[in-house]
Amino acid sequence: MNDSRMMEVMIAADDHRLLSANAEAWWLVQNDVFVPLESFLTEESSAEFLQRLNEKNAEWFLTRFKTTPALPYLTRIAAESFEQEGGNMIRVILCRLHELMDNYSRLNDALATHDAMLSIYEDLYFEYSPAEKTVTLYNANQSAYSNGVMEAKAFFAALSARCNEESQSALNSVISHLRDGAPRFRQSIPCNLFNDDSAVQSVQIKWLTIHLHKNQTTIVGLIHPLRSRGTEESAVTYDPLTGTISKEFITRMAEDRINQQHAEHTALAILDIDYFKHVNDNYGHQYGDQLLRQVASIMETEIKDGGAVGRIGGDEFMMLFYHVENETALRAYLRSIKSVVSAVLPGITVSIGAAVYPDAAPNYNDLFLVADYCLYLAKAKGRNRYIIHTLAKHPPLAEIKAEQSGGERNLVRGRDDLPLGDALVQLMYMMQYGKKPPLSTVVEEFAVRAALPLLSLWREKDRALLAVGGKEKHDVDALQAFVSGHDLSELEIPRYLIDGMTVTHTVDKKEEGCVELREALLEHQILSFIYIPFTDAAGEKASLVLASVNRKVFWNEEHLKYYRLFADMLSRCTLSEFSPA
Ligand code: GH3
Ligand code: MG
Repeated sequence: MNDSRMMEVMIAADDHRLLSANAEAWWLVQNDVFVPLESFLTEESSAEFLQRLNEKNAEWFLTRFKTTPALPYLTRIAAESFEQEGGNMIRVILCRLHELMDNYSRLNDALATHDAMLSIYEDLYFEYSPAEKTVTLYNANQSAYSNGVMEAKAFFAALSARCNEESQSALNSVISHLRDGAPRFRQSIPCNLFNDDSAVQSVQIKWLTIHLHKNQTTIVGLIHPLRSRGTEESAVTYDPLTGTISKEFITRMAEDRINQQHAEHTALAILDIDYFKHVNDNYGHQYGDQLLRQVASIMETEIKDGGAVGRIGGDEFMMLFYHVENETALRAYLRSIKSVVSAVLPGITVSIGAAVYPDAAPNYNDLFLVADYCLYLAKAKGRNRYIIHTLAKHPPLAEIKAEQSGGERNLVRGRDDLPLGDALVQLMYMMQYGKKPPLSTVVEEFAVRAALPLLSLWREKDRALLAVGGKEKHDVDALQAFVSGHDLSELEIPRYLIDGMTVTHTVDKKEEGCVELREALLEHQILSFIYIPFTDAAGEKASLVLASVNRKVFWNEEHLKYYRLFADMLSRCTLSEFSPA
C-alpha cells in the first residue's frame, strides 16, 4: 500500500491560487504558483471542479491534469473547506486512480491470505469501533457468528448468551475493558463462546488498540477456541484433494447439529457432478481433479459462512446449511451454485438433492437418505437440476425408506415416472462409458421403463436368446418355440412394416396375407408382435422381439419410436462385449 498516497493541496478560497502542496502536486502544476488550480486541469475537469466548489460538494470525483491527461485522479474537496463561512483556504485531496486500483486488488489478495491464516488457527478476528459502536467480524465460518458488521451491543449479547453462569462475570469484565478502551488485553474464559463443538472447553480473547488516521481508535482482537487435551482428533480434518472438510468430519458436524442440538432449519444437500467419468475419460484424471477443486471452491464461495462443504465421495459433496429460513432461501443457494458451475466451467453440470430438518426427517441418517433420494431423482429426471424434498411433491420418509429397502435400486436411478427418452439416454451412456452392464440388465431395464410385457434380444446366426426382460418374461418359451421355427430375417408381412420394424397386433384377424406367419404366431398364443432387426457395431446380426402371449397389446407410434431408438442404440455397441447375464 506504500505507493498509493493521498496528495493534499491547499488553495486560496478567493482566487484558487496554490498555497501549499507536496512535490508531486508541485510537479503537476509545473511549479507555477500564481495561477488558479483549475487552470491546470483539462477543460472538462476544470468545469466540474468549479461546479463542485460552487455546490459545496465534498464527494469524490475524477479529474485530469493537462500535464498528464491519461492518468485520472480521484479528487475531493475536503468538507471542512465549506464549513467555515468566509474561510480563506480550501483543501483539495488527490489520489492517482490506477494506484488505487492496483492497491485494491493487492488488498483483496492480502485479505484472502489473512482469511486463510485465520482459518488455520480457527481464530475469529474482530474489529471494534468505540465511536461507531460496531463490531466487524472476519472468518466467522467455523464459529457461531456471521462475518460482517454488527452492533457492538448485539455482539456482546451474543457472547453473553453462550456463557455459563460461572464465566459470566469474567466475560462482563472483558466487555467493560473493551468499552473502556484498554490498550492491550488477554484473558481466557472457561466456556465455549466460539461455537458448539463440545471439544472446545474455553476460549482466549485478546486484543490491541490501534489508532488509525485522525483520532479514530479501533480495537483489533481475536477470539481463539482452546481444545482440551486428548481431543485432538476432534479438530477439523480436510479432504486433501479439494480442501473441503473430510467426510468423517462433515458427517460429525451434521450429526452434531441435527441429532444433538436439534437445530431447526438446518439443510443438507448432496451434490454430484454429472457424467464426471466422461470428463476423466476424455480429459484425463488430472483435469478431473482440477474440476473437483473448482466445483468445491464454487460451493464454498457461494455458501460462505452460511454452512460448510465436505467431500463424501469421488465426485460427491455434502453441503450443510446452518440455517435456511425457508425453501426459497435454500433454493437461492442451490440455484446459484448450479448456475455458477455452468457459467465458470462450460459443459459441466451438477445434480443436487436436498432436504431440510426437521420437515423432511427427524434425524441425520434419515435426512441424508431423503437428500440422497432427491439426488437420484435429479439424476433420473435428466441431471443438471436440484431437487429439494417437499411433502407436496415427494413421498414422505417412510415411503422412501420402503422403496429403498424394497430391493436393489434400478439401474437407471429414480422412479418409474422417468420419461422413456431420459431412461434411454442414460442406458446409452452406461453402455458406452460405464462398466458395461450385462445385456439382461439392459433389456430388463428398458422393458420395465417402457412397460413391455416381454422383450427379447436374439443373435440371428444361431438364434441364440441373448437376453429377455419384462413382466411376462416367463412366456419366453412360447416365443422361443416360434423364433426357432422361423427365419426372422425373412419374415415378410410388408403391410405392417414401419421404419424397419415388423409390427402386428392383429394376428387373430382373418385377413389376407401372411397366413403362415399368423398361424405360427397363434399356435404359440402370441397375439401382438414386433420384430426389429439390426446389426451391431461388430457387424453381428441381431434382433429385438417384443411380444405378448395370450393377450393383445396395442403399440402406439410414440412407443414404436422409442423401440426403434433402443435398437439403434444397441446397434452402436458390440454385443459380444457384454455378458448375457
Ligand atoms: P452421474 O451423472 O450418474 O453422476 O455420472 P458420473 O459419470 O459422474 O458417475 P459417478 O458419479 O458414479 O462417477 C464418479 C466418478 O468419479 C468415478 C471415478 O472414476 C471418478 N473419481 C472418483 N474419485 C476421483 C478423483 O479423486 N479424481 C478424479 N479425477 N476422478 C475421480
Ligand atoms: Mg457423478
